[in-house]
This record gives sequence, structure tokens and C-alpha cells, in this order.
Amino acid sequence: MGLLAWIKQMLGISNMNKKINIILFGPPGSGKGTQAAKLVEKYGLLHISTGDLFRYEIGNKTPLGIEAQGYMSKGQLVPDSVTIGMLKNKVEANPDAKGFIFDGFPRTIAQADALDEYLKSKEEGVSKLIALDVEEKEIVSRLLKRGETSGRADDQDENVIKNRIAVYKKETAIVFDHYAKSNLSNTVHGMGTIEEIFNRLSDAIDAI
Ligand code: AMP
Repeated sequence: MGLLAWIKQMLGISNMNKKINIILFGPPGSGKGTQAAKLVEKYGLLHISTGDLFRYEIGNKTPLGIEAQGYMSKGQLVPDSVTIGMLKNKVEANPDAKGFIFDGFPRTIAQADALDEYLKSKEEGVSKLIALDVEEKEIVSRLLKRGETSGRADDQDENVIKNRIAVYKKETAIVFDHYAKSNLSNTVHGMGTIEEIFNRLSDAIDAI
């Protein structure tokens, strides 16, 4: 335990027993998935990627997967009602989790409102939103490179990538402002080595 955490615990203002809910934020290709996997290992939180959940449903050819695929293949957002319901189911299925890393959610203000209301009903809340800041040129080249091995059709077509980035700017970027109103939004420089970025994210989480 660090000195600050120890002092907080002695003063009875420790967050140690409180659930930590982190929104890992940023455009497609900003490294959320890579970093979430490392953060899960370090902090013992549960990683929920709505993109991964949709891909799982698609793999199993479920009605939800079939509906989602039409939107995903064009780089559009899956409708809020479908996405929010799926997210809640995943949280409900893990009542003993120490907290969550939300990756790729919320992507609209309606999703952010639904998440806030849902967590409030459980006497919890969003602990922090951390945005990975990466230059657009870098994002496109990272996604195209990932497309060579990921098998993801939405990473292989430059027009679909451009649309995903446009949707991010139009509908998702404002989610940062939503949480900034409660002083919960932070930005971390998302360029450099995986380890450098991970250290910056860890610092942001340790400061909660
Ligand atoms: P990702 O794996 O986060 O890049 O998401 C891949 C695709 O899944 C997105 O381009 C959307 O079509 C869909 N998707 C993932 N998360 C969401 C969300 N929170 N809201 C709507 N659509 C989503």
C-alpha cells in the first residue's frame, strides 16, 4: 500500500472497499483494449468491452449479434437500447466484481445518462473517465495494421475506419464533456510505448 492510500485508510476516507468504475475513453484505435487487459491484471477489475460483447454475439449468430453486425460493418453505432441492455446484463452477471473498466461504453450521451442512473441505483458511480489522446493519423495506421491480423472487417476498410472516427467526433467525444462537468474526466497522452502509456494510466487510477 502506498503512503497516500495508508493515510487515507487511517483517516477513514479510503476508497479501498468502494467499487471502482473506470471509463477507458478514446477514439477507435487509441489503445483502449490493449491497456484494459493490462489494467485488469494490475487492479483486479472486470473489463467490459461492448465491442467484444457484440463480436461474441455475432460469433454465436444470436439475434442480437445479427442485428449488431449490420451497424458494425458500416462503422455505425448499434442503437442505444440494445447496447445499454447488453451492458447491464454483463454487469448484473458479475455482482462480486471489485469494479469495472468500461471500454467502448458509453459512446453517446444517452448511454452515459443510462450508466449514471444505473450505477446510482446500486449506490455506485463512475469513479473516473480516462481518455487516451492519440493523433488521428496514428489511429488510422494502427487500425489498418490491426486489420491485417484481427480478422475484423471494420479494421480493413479505410472508409469504414473514417466513418468510425467521424461517429466518434460527432456522437462520442461529448461524453468527455458530460463527465468533465463532475470533474471526472482526465486525458492521458496515448502515444509512446505500451508500457509508458500504461504507467500514465496507472498514475491516473492511483489518484482516485
Ligand atoms: P469497438 O470494438 O469498441 O471498436 O466497437 C466496434 C463496433 O461495435 C463499433 O464500431 C460499433 O458499431 C459497435 N459498438 C461497440 N460499442 C458500442 C456502443 N457503446 N454503442 C454503440 N455501438 C457500439
